[in-house]
Amino acid sequence: MNDIKSGIQYVFQTRNRMTLAVSGTGHTAMECAIFNSVEPGESVLAAVNGIWGERAADMAERIGARVNTLVAPPGGYLTTSEIEKALSKHRPVVFFLAHGESSTGVLHPLDGIGELCYKYNCLFLVDSVASLGGAPLYMDQQGIDILYTGSQKVLNAPPGTAPISFSERACQKVFNRRSKPVSFFLDLNWLANYWGCDEKPSRMYHHTGPVTAFYSLRESLAVLSEEGLENSWKRHQSAAEHFYAGLEKLGLKLFVKEKHARLPTVTTIVAPHGYDWKEVTSYIMKTHNLEISGGLGPSVGLVLRVGLMGCNSSKEKVDMVLAALKDALEHCHRSKV
Ligand code: PMP
Repeated sequence: MNDIKSGIQYVFQTRNRMTLAVSGTGHTAMECAIFNSVEPGESVLAAVNGIWGERAADMAERIGARVNTLVAPPGGYLTTSEIEKALSKHRPVVFFLAHGESSTGVLHPLDGIGELCYKYNCLFLVDSVASLGGAPLYMDQQGIDILYTGSQKVLNAPPGTAPISFSERACQKVFNRRSKPVSFFLDLNWLANYWGCDEKPSRMYHHTGPVTAFYSLRESLAVLSEEGLENSWKRHQSAAEHFYAGLEKLGLKLFVKEKHARLPTVTTIVAPHGYDWKEVTSYIMKTHNLEISGGLGPSVGLVLRVGLMGCNSSKEKVDMVLAALKDALEHCHRSKV
């Protein structure tokens, strides 16, 4: 468990003492972040540029928070001045942002937002489930107060554990609450002790940790550390660029227009004109044994989504997907209208 903690500190680029892995998938970490940092009646602001902001808002509503959303158009992102305006209007205790919005394929710029949250005395909560290890992210330097990810994306470990970290500022708020968090299982007081992050001399039984999943998480963090974060970021970026070039050659268009806002791990392709996207994805599944998804939330019907992350982020895998797409475009029904 101590090895896992230092592995997470490295991949998150943080020195936070309160760094651990939640037993559960990415959703569990989302709820751990929100349930611990927000009390009923408090104001929460969620940036919505896909389904993850919507879900964070839903979770905060469930615990009786006053929730406001700041909505970006599908495939787009929010500017710092839009964010500042909303922070000054709603005065939230927490601002939620998905760094890698896997439903639209957007990599949301982070620079400057941490400073704004600090200025408005608000905690900056970032979802990096789809981006961690695939795109640059510096928790401490970027002023992120709560950051979480999942084990099954770039880390390539089985699903079931979710790294999370809380800054000192976040801990100040979490450990000075008036009410207990709604979840016993996700109560940071308990989790902190279980993971040896508090001052107590011994760790108490809280729940049965998924130990086999912890071993695989430990190994996946070691693999990423051995490669080095910068190398992993570069590898994902160059595989993604190779993919974009190949897609353009096939006459396909990318959904996210601004290059710097494309998520290297999840590529959204504008659903090809004249085709039924469901026929394309099922043809590829049947013929090539590859799973390509349709859209999710605001991108339903608009895009095809391809996830290439961790060990799947390579030129060879990209070529495999391009060949499958080319074959599908040649064989699926194309309407002339
Ligand atoms: N956030 C983002 C950005 C995601 O892509 C996902 C998973 N697709 C989640 C949260 C939720 O993770 P999980 O499915 O592991 O609960």
